[in-house]
Amino acid sequence: MFETANYIEAALWAVIGVGFLVVSMRRGGRRRITALAAITFLLFGGSDVVEVQTGAWWRPWWLFVWKAACVLSMAYLLFLWRRSRKPLCAGCGSELPGNEYGVCPECATEVKKT
Ligand SMILES: [Zn+2]
Repeated sequence: MFETANYIEAALWAVIGVGFLVVSMRRGGRRRITALAAITFLLFGGSDVVEVQTGAWWRPWWLFVWKAACVLSMAYLLFLWRRSRKPLCAGCGSELPGNEYGVCPECATEVKKT
């Protein structure tokens, strides 16, 4: 039962990781954050597979470090993601550097100041 649950968990993280990988390959957006998220979730899924072999998520010590690093990475990526939220252009959907610009640098659509 423990093994099955862990493999399901590993598969779930892998699916999320692949999802981020697909998003990161799309043009535009926050590619670096999504690419790092993909790596983090795939590694997290990998740690669950190792956990099945070792029998505990805190044993051996490097598995604990591995998982802790993944969790820290997720928290950091969430922080970066929230901070990187910028207004999007109504014309082309690209990110705008800030409200100080009157027009979109990509398509020259006028940007309404918020
Ligand atoms: Zn635009």
